[in-house]
Amino acid sequence: IIKPAWASHAPTLTLSILERLNGEAMLADAEIARQITAKILHLIQTQGENTKPLYLPNVVNNTQHLLTVGGGRRVGVLVSKGGTGILLQMLLSASKEWPPSEELMLQLHSVLAKVGPKDRKFGVKARLNGALNVTVNLLKQNLQNPKLLLPCLQVLRVYSSNSVNAVSLGKNGLVELMFKIIGPFSKKNTSLLKVALDTLGALLKSKTNARRAVDRAHVPVLLYIYQDWHRNDTRHRHMLIRKGILGCLKNITNIKLGRRAFLDADGMRILYNTSTECLPVRTLDPLINTSSLIMRKCFPKNRLPLPTIKSVFHHQLPHIPAGGPVAQLYSQPPGVDDVVDESDDNEDAEAENDTENEEDKDLHAQNDDIETDISKLRPRETPSRPFEELKIYERFFLELSEDFQGFNFDNPKAAVIDPVTAPKSHCSITVPTAQGLPPKYPTTAPLQGERHLAKDARPRPETSSPAPGRVGGVEEGAEEDGDEGAVLEVPDTALLLPLHDPDLYVEMVKSTRSVPQYSQVAYPDYFGHVAPTFREHILERVYGVQRTKIFQDIERLIHPNDILDKVVYDLDIQSSPVVDDGESLKFNSQFESGNLRKAIQVRRYEYDLVLNSDINSNHYHQWFYFEVSGMCVGAPYRFNIINCEKSNSQFNYGMQVLMYSVQEAIGGRPRWVRTGADICYYKNHFSRSSIAAGGQKGKSYYTMTFSMTFNHKDDVCYFAYHYPYTYSTLKMHLQKLEALRTPQVYLRQDILCETLGGNGCPLLTITAMPESTSNDQICQFRNRPLVFLSARVHPGETNASWVMKGTLEFLMGTSPLAQSLREAYIFKIVPMLNPDGVVNGNHRCSLSGEDLNRQWQSPSPELHPTIYHTKSLLQYLTAIQRAPLVFCDYHGHSRKKNVFMYGCSLKETVWQTNISATSCDLHEDLGYRTLPKILSQIAPAFSMASCSFVVERSKEATARVVVWREMGVQRSYTMESTLCGCDQGKYKGLQIGTRELEEMGAQFCVALLRLKRLTCPLELRNHAHLLDVESDFIETRCKVTSPSTYVLEDEEHSFMEEVDYSAESGDELEHEPDVADTHDNHLSDSESNSQRDALT
Ligand SMILES: [Zn+2]
Repeated sequence: IIKPAWASHAPTLTLSILERLNGEAMLADAEIARQITAKILHLIQTQGENTKPLYLPNVVNNTQHLLTVGGGRRVGVLVSKGGTGILLQMLLSASKEWPPSEELMLQLHSVLAKVGPKDRKFGVKARLNGALNVTVNLLKQNLQNPKLLLPCLQVLRVYSSNSVNAVSLGKNGLVELMFKIIGPFSKKNTSLLKVALDTLGALLKSKTNARRAVDRAHVPVLLYIYQDWHRNDTRHRHMLIRKGILGCLKNITNIKLGRRAFLDADGMRILYNTSTECLPVRTLDPLINTSSLIMRKCFPKNRLPLPTIKSVFHHQLPHIPAGGPVAQLYSQPPGVDDVVDESDDNEDAEAENDTENEEDKDLHAQNDDIETDISKLRPRETPSRPFEELKIYERFFLELSEDFQGFNFDNPKAAVIDPVTAPKSHCSITVPTAQGLPPKYPTTAPLQGERHLAKDARPRPETSSPAPGRVGGVEEGAEEDGDEGAVLEVPDTALLLPLHDPDLYVEMVKSTRSVPQYSQVAYPDYFGHVAPTFREHILERVYGVQRTKIFQDIERLIHPNDILDKVVYDLDIQSSPVVDDGESLKFNSQFESGNLRKAIQVRRYEYDLVLNSDINSNHYHQWFYFEVSGMCVGAPYRFNIINCEKSNSQFNYGMQVLMYSVQEAIGGRPRWVRTGADICYYKNHFSRSSIAAGGQKGKSYYTMTFSMTFNHKDDVCYFAYHYPYTYSTLKMHLQKLEALRTPQVYLRQDILCETLGGNGCPLLTITAMPESTSNDQICQFRNRPLVFLSARVHPGETNASWVMKGTLEFLMGTSPLAQSLREAYIFKIVPMLNPDGVVNGNHRCSLSGEDLNRQWQSPSPELHPTIYHTKSLLQYLTAIQRAPLVFCDYHGHSRKKNVFMYGCSLKETVWQTNISATSCDLHEDLGYRTLPKILSQIAPAFSMASCSFVVERSKEATARVVVWREMGVQRSYTMESTLCGCDQGKYKGLQIGTRELEEMGAQFCVALLRLKRLTCPLELRNHAHLLDVESDFIETRCKVTSPSTYVLEDEEHSFMEEVDYSAESGDELEHEPDVADTHDNHLSDSESNSQRDALT
């Protein structure tokens, strides 16, 4: 501290300056404010060293006044000029006086209480100056002196928000002191109490302090005090005190010991009851929310009600891979896979490891994930495999050598291209599943020959719905002509659905091989789905829905006798999975793509549902598809899927589940509709084994819950995550497309390979027939650029199949656009890269238990045949210099809205990294942006703003990156379609349906046609406007200048209701400084912002 020359001048001078300052302080002018604070500072500096007991209090006193008048701005200037340090020094010197001047101490603490919250480093400075103990000692000596107590507590509150300080203060007995100050309801000294509670709350963030509080039995005390305030604060004047008590409990229960003490002290019941009483008063919401958070944290963890979390079905692999998740699964001793883990959750780790979503950018690790190795960002020069090995793939490219000799152009239908070899049937199928229908229905009628379905029945008009409890003439007819069997009217969807045919569907199912050897067909797949004509809006979230659901869950613990816990469906008991006593709903999902494992009736109208994990895996639950019957009309059913894994879901942002009612279908409305109310998605109390959570301990599952009332008696309803699209459906569509083929279309269907499960993987070739066998025609035919498309590598992303259906239908269509497109390109399409996953109801993997879209770098011909052979096709094309112009793999995205693309750009990736690299030397054509740009102009669901062209390390084994890097395909994309809906364009505010998805697939084709014109050099000049990709590009660049925003995060709006997914302790999160760490050179600080704001 520099002492100016005039510092020793008469104190009268100081006083007169201060008087003047007080006069000026009335002026609000900013400049004056600055001058005044500078003067205050000066005063403090000069007097600080002098410590003339007589004048110091005056200075401090006046400083305090000035700060009061000037407000935050002056405090800010004071802090920036180093005033905190001076004040703390003054405090220290004042403390050395004996006896200390109470007046001076009071004033100093009052000033510090104002300055502290404004100084980010206040906690550290106080510790370094040795001020902590001065205040603690002062507090100890003045417990009965409220006048001094308050400013001391205010300062301690700021000290404690620093985690190092909190530990040290705890050691000096501050936790105990706080417990002496806080107490039951009293109208006296409420502001004191409030500050004491805040201080205690801050102290208890330290694990050591929390443990100390638990050891001294303070948890029951806090609960008692809370109840007392709850009872007596009838006018809710002291909400903040009540919240302060809860804040202490919240921090104590971050440790396991605290949670146990809370439960032992009957905390669940106490907080449940008090919260229930608070519910009618909206202003008490913060109390209910904090209570709910504490209760969720303390809810004892359970294991899932399953014998093992390994999938209920198992598929023997040809060989077990050397490493990876499957190898781990095989080598595990039994019984270790799902041990309840009471460890404290690590929220940080969670956010960083939730990479399940395809192409989902990890919010935390995103910058670490960008590829920085330039050599990996350049196309590989050398061919990956010798041509000799690839030559066998020539047979899939007959069109490249086709000369059409002997082809009859007058009767083109007669001579054709080999159709798919008819698959041989190998098991008997019953159709459809109908266990829920009353006996009059043809329950699981045997397929061969004796189906009693009235094939020619016409759908009923929309307006005449069947009388309740009766479906058409079914009941009467069945009773009267008993021996003829029941007649079920099948909705005739042929006119509406040209590609659907129930009989053909059943034929297709016969040759589909599933691991569980399904022998039933689900009605929706059998009848087909006609997209509804009405709009389905994105659901607005109801205020308080999550809270209500969580309270219902907590009631299970509080009123255990109300819980039925009756298992009504259990695939682990394969002999009789279904319980049917007429009292409960009946469940079933033993059909293609079904994956319900267990259903437990918890209350009369509430069911917990457990999904099966992917085959040969112990996790991946998100996709669901199951059947429900035996419902009561009008009853408020609640369904909880209790083993979801993603940390968030569009179910929290307006997405609804899909339901298909057989009664509605029979009534002429065969369709999936968005349904369900009170939908939400939150972390639950079922413990996730670290083995199924990537080694992380303390994870929990998530609950997806929805409520639903059924409109029809004796209905059979189906629920699904998204519009189902089975492998058999694909085969049916392909056959129908073949049948609808016109002579202008060249269509060839091959089976690329067989999957592990024995299903064929279809490969389609579509282009235009040449007009004749003239040289020119044949030459043009063979030399058309190739477009390579694939979809459904992830079985749970059924939307990708609907987009693919749109693409295929457009390509096979009769429109002039379709014809031009066929004349422009040869299309190579693998519409379902993972048939086994789809058939067996997997969410993510193939039968090898692995994510196939992470195998593109070195796929195994045995374990990943579809990827191996698809990649080989592309390698073959590259080898013969015919690499595709466009490669696109269709996916679904569960966390974002709209449809968008991910591409690969060297430059855009380099720009996001710190490689100062010779980035200006990197030459790159902007062509990869053209297709998405065109799509954003023509496809209403498509959003350019959501696209990204950055190459991430974690994606280096995906189709998009491998095809770009290894085959040098510049336009290599992943196209992601939302599972939820759109927040821009024509469909803004609407949930996405199959109509929109199919439209997207068709628009993709139209965009390819425009791309064709643009890539033709002569046309280029006329389409300069499209090359505003440049400006578009620059826009995006601006958007991404900050490295942390290079990808668009889930830009979801916030709700009125505070959505809290993290009802786990943040225990491991906290860096608990050990004692050795607390010495003075420890400069890290973690002042809490909210703490500071609370004080101003
Ligand atoms: Zn995907």
